[in-house]
Order: sequence, then C-alpha cells, then structure tokens
Amino acid sequence: MAKYEFGQHILDTQKPDVDAIAAILSDDTVDGALFAAANDVKTREYGNLVFVRGIIEFSNHCRCICAYCGINAHMDKVTRYRMSADELVDAAVDAAKVYRTVILQSGEDMYYTADMLADIVARIKARANCTVTLSIGERTLAEYKLIREAGADRFLLKHETADAALYQSLHGVPLENRLQAQRTLKALGFELGGGFMVGLPGQTDEILARDLLTLKEEGVEMAGIGPFIAHPDTNIGKAKDGDAHKTLKVLAIARLLLPRCHLPSTTALNVKGGMRDALLCGANVIMQKATPFAFRKLYDIYPGRDAQDVPLGVQFEELEQRLSELGLKAE
Ligand code: SAH
Repeated sequence: MAKYEFGQHILDTQKPDVDAIAAILSDDTVDGALFAAANDVKTREYGNLVFVRGIIEFSNHCRCICAYCGINAHMDKVTRYRMSADELVDAAVDAAKVYRTVILQSGEDMYYTADMLADIVARIKARANCTVTLSIGERTLAEYKLIREAGADRFLLKHETADAALYQSLHGVPLENRLQAQRTLKALGFELGGGFMVGLPGQTDEILARDLLTLKEEGVEMAGIGPFIAHPDTNIGKAKDGDAHKTLKVLAIARLLLPRCHLPSTTALNVKGGMRDALLCGANVIMQKATPFAFRKLYDIYPGRDAQDVPLGVQFEELEQRLSELGLKAE
C-alpha cells in the first residue's frame, strides 16, 4: 500500500463512507502509512506549532448521570466543590499569563446561572487578553446566548458517541439533545469543539466511523478524542479501558477528514502515555491543568489524571522542553 493511499482515499472521497473508515480501523497493516499521512497533513496546516491551553475545572457538582463519569450525580463518595466567581476570575486571569486560551470546565452545575457565567466571562475578558472557552454541558439557547454576548469565544461539548442507542444507555437522555445543543452553539457564533470517546463498552468500529463522520457533519472546529477510562466507582467501573493505539488511529483519520480541525492530544490519551505519538499523528493541541491546587484531585472524572501541584509557568516550560525534543514549538 502506497504511503498516501489511505489518506487520499478519505480526503478525495466527497462522501467518505462508514465502511471505508471502519475497514481502516480494523486493518493494522496500514497504521504506518495512516500515521505518516496524518502527520503530513498536520504539518502542512500548522507547521511545528502546538497550541497549549490552560483548563480550570471550577466545579464538580453535576446534575447528569453519565455512566462513565466519576463525578456524575449518583457518585456519593465524591467531595463536591465549587469555586466562587471571584476565585474563578482570579484563577483565569492568572492562567492567561501563561496560556493564550483558558478553558473553564465543570459538571452541569446549575448553581452558576447564565447571568453569573456571563459576568465571569466579561470580567475575565476585561482583565486578560485571552480566548475563553467554556465546557459546562447543555444549557438553553437563551443561556448560551447570554454567555456568548458576554464574550465567550469557544465551547466544548462532545457528542460522546454517535450511536443513538449507546448514547441513550450511557446518558439516560437522547443523543438528539446533545446534537441540537451543538447546533445552537454554532448558530450563536461559538467556535465549536466536539469529540467522543474511544472504547466505550459496546462500541464497534462502525460506530467509531460514524463518530468521525459526525464531526464532519456538525462542522466542529475542534475535536477531543480520548480513550474511555473506567472509573471504578461507576456502574461500568469493571469495563475494559479504551485502547490507546486505536485512539491514535481514530485521531489520525480525524486529521485526514478535517485537515484544519484543532485536535488535542486529550488528557485521557495522555494518561495512557499517548501524547508523543498523538503529536506525531495529527494532534496539534495540548491542554494543561490550571485548576487551583486545592481542587485538582477532586475533579475525578476518571482515574490517573495528573493532579500534581506544579506552578503553571513551570508546567508550561516543562512541556515546551518536551515538545522541542520532538521538533515542535509551544504556542
Ligand atoms: N460537564 C461537561 C464537561 C465534561 S468532562 C460536559 O458535559 O460537557 C469532559 C470530557 O471528559 C467529557 O466530554 C468526556 O468525553 C470525558 N470523560 C468523562 N468521563 C470519562 C471517562 N471515564 N473516560 C474518558 N473520558 C471521560
């Protein structure tokens, strides 16, 4: 198989189909060619730059019951916390001294009204020159609109799995709600970050192919693709973790399907030791924790997350160093 054949097949086909993508996913003989093609496309689009973002996990209260998530509403061993608006604004302004983009993430915590969130965003924007991304789950159009008008630039809301039955069984609510929320965000002018997990119990290569095509259909500008990691306290805590190698293949195909899309080496993939490989097969973004130390261990959505108390500036420099060893440059 020639080096570029798979890449070009996907890129050239007007309507890349599920079967072709599923075939690539199940054929390990193509991996070298696939990864090289994805790295070529990434390098063509972004050179050697890696965009580094700081993420602040500001509340682990959540109304949802997502079966995979260690802070879902049913997890009664979790010590719950939420940062005050002042704490969050200060933490974001500090993070913006190191990172150009600050991501504010939480469970679906209705304590923060849209007015509060809009005020928080506006205060951050007034004090810091940074892009603000929210990752706070589903809200109404009116709520998203307020937050957007306050100056929020981007929004991360993954579709998690494109299979309607699997989505419903994991979340207890329909996939359509999630896709509708993504469309609302896009219509409001947010840059949309989507994504999904690899290796969810019951997932097949055909479903993964549909996950990839969903990114294209929904027109995401960023996509977080990470392996499922079983959290022992959840109902699916004994399930097998997602495979890092399979995740890399999915990431590489995403790069070929969506050449300009921002693709992080996700935190979950990094937990599995996949960061270096991800950066060499299509990923162009890394997220680093900027959550105040006191809260880091409590945002326990899955095990193994790095919760070390390293100052942000040092953390960033260490990453710069690691990237430079790969010929890459932190932005
Ligand atoms: N409450 C927000 C933020 C979710 S946490 C929201 O619903 O959008 C961010 C991401 O972590 C999720 O979108 C999911 O893809 C991922 N995640 C959660 N639990 C996980 C697990 N057990 N393994 C791997 N990824 C997980």
